[in-house]
Amino acid sequence: MADMRIVIVGASGRMGRMLVRAVCDTQGVTVAGATERSGSPFIGRDAGELAGVETLGIKITDNIQSCCEADVIIDFTAPAATLAHAAFAAEHGMGMVIGTTGFEAAQLDALREILSNSPVVMAANYSVGVNLALSLIERAAEVLGDDYDAEIFEAHHKHKVDAPSGTALAMGRALAAGRCVKLDETAVYSREGITGARKPGSIGFSVVRGGNIVGEHQAMFIADEERIEINHVASDRMVFAKGAVRAGSWLMSKDAGWYDMQDVLNLRD
Ligand code: NAD
Repeated sequence: MADMRIVIVGASGRMGRMLVRAVCDTQGVTVAGATERSGSPFIGRDAGELAGVETLGIKITDNIQSCCEADVIIDFTAPAATLAHAAFAAEHGMGMVIGTTGFEAAQLDALREILSNSPVVMAANYSVGVNLALSLIERAAEVLGDDYDAEIFEAHHKHKVDAPSGTALAMGRALAAGRCVKLDETAVYSREGITGARKPGSIGFSVVRGGNIVGEHQAMFIADEERIEINHVASDRMVFAKGAVRAGSWLMSKDAGWYDMQDVLNLRD
């Protein structure tokens, strides 16, 4: 069978370089194109060399139209860029693996509309460990109920632009699903000043930004007598890149639809 052809958009970004490496390290997939935003100093550079692997003969371009000979786009860029890439993917019948986080609700609606006839995997976090943690959190919330105060903590590097992280929000949704409530109605995203006592049933979030922290997440279920913690620490971005390439390979055999890593890893009940 021919290799699956993957376009890496945002190929000079922190994740973009990892993705190029992950594709090069994976059998059955190949880098078919690499893009960057207009004005990037990396336009014209070889995507493989920039990623620290071999020369691939794939020059980074700011013209995605030159990448139409491909099966899947892997996109870890920024919301507005992902929307533009989605329109291109839909127009050329390509699948999409989306890792970008920080979408506004209206942008997400637009993304779903644009990709309504495409095979798509979208996940706030492509690590296998985090996706297992999401299942465990849902189950814990179901068993413990709201007698246990639920809090979610996350920490990331100083360059991250959105908060709480997409993964922390996914943990919040898993927790809310386990309790049969809506996250929007129970989340407390910040506390400052005279906040009053903790509202029963609320799901609290707290955030740290600093240095080069790759990604740490913790869900806490706190009772007067005990505390349960489900904790995940990512120590290398490659974990997300490998998961995204795995999602891309998995997508090859799928019909149009909106999937996440729980589907890719077969973690759904
Ligand atoms: P980054 O800023 O290092 O990389 C983003 C790259 O996208 C940059 O090089 C930027 O120039 C490029 N870009 C912007 N607009 C573009 C366009 N129109 N065309 C082509 N390239 C464009 O950021 P990062 O740390 O790599 O993270 C990128 C995104 O991925 C963020 O939203 C982050 O939260 C998310 N992320 C998700 C996961 C996950 O597992 N889902 C893991 C890590 C990061």
